[in-house]
This record gives sequence, C-alpha cells and structure tokens, in this order.
Amino acid sequence: MGRTSEVKYMKTIRLNVKTTAHTQMVDVTDQIQKAVTESGVREGICTVFVPHTTAAVTINENADPDVVRDFTMEINKIVPWEDGYRHMEGNSAAHLKSSMIGFSEQVIIEDGRLLLGVWQGIYFCEYDGPRSRKLLVKIRED
Ligand code: ZN
Repeated sequence: MGRTSEVKYMKTIRLNVKTTAHTQMVDVTDQIQKAVTESGVREGICTVFVPHTTAAVTINENADPDVVRDFTMEINKIVPWEDGYRHMEGNSAAHLKSSMIGFSEQVIIEDGRLLLGVWQGIYFCEYDGPRSRKLLVKIRED
C-alpha cells in the first residue's frame, strides 16, 4: 500500500506574476494547476510560497469577483497606507498586510488535480505593486 514507494520531491517551480495595480489579488489557480499537471504527480501535496515581504498568497472565492473587490477594499481600510509609520521605505502597510494574509498555502493533489472547493481559487496578493513577482511552487508526490 505505497509503503515501499519513495516520496518524490519535484524541483521547485518558479512562476512569474505580473501585477498591474498597487493592491491587487491575482487568480493564479490555472498557473498552479498547469504546474501540477506538468509534474505528472497524481497524489500528493502542492505548496505555494511567496518570496516577498510586501505580497502574500491566500485561498478564497473565485466565482463572484465582488469578493476580491470587497476583500481589497476592507484590507486597505484595516491597514491604511498612511498612519504615521516610521519605516523609511514608506510601505509599512504592505509589510503588515503580507504577514496578516501569509506567505504560503498547501493544497492536496488528488487524481492530478488541486483538491480545491468548488468556489475556491488561489490568489497572489499584491500590496505594493505594480511589480514583477515570483511565486514558488513545490510539488510532493506521496
Ligand atoms: Zn519596506
């Protein structure tokens, strides 16, 4: 029952994400699914990691675009861009939002597909764009 089979670790995949706004949620589900499909892994775990301090990754609804709109509107209210911060670079709000949302997500792979809920999508969250970003994907077969 798979006990003798070795756990396979695929090489880390580096995806490019181009953001076009200062605060933006980019649906990267298709890009990540493509990476999973190309890996040939049928059963395993997919880890998505953001190697930046002013961006994040999250999973949320991708059916109604107003969810993303409301999410972005509210996070900008919760963490205002100007609030007497001292960080010289002037982007403390972006650093805060990144840590609040988080830098990684894990999704189960079943039958070669990301096992997301019907309404779920994976979002790259930009908090200090527009920029060219990287998104790391690690696929583990087990
Ligand atoms: Zn900074």
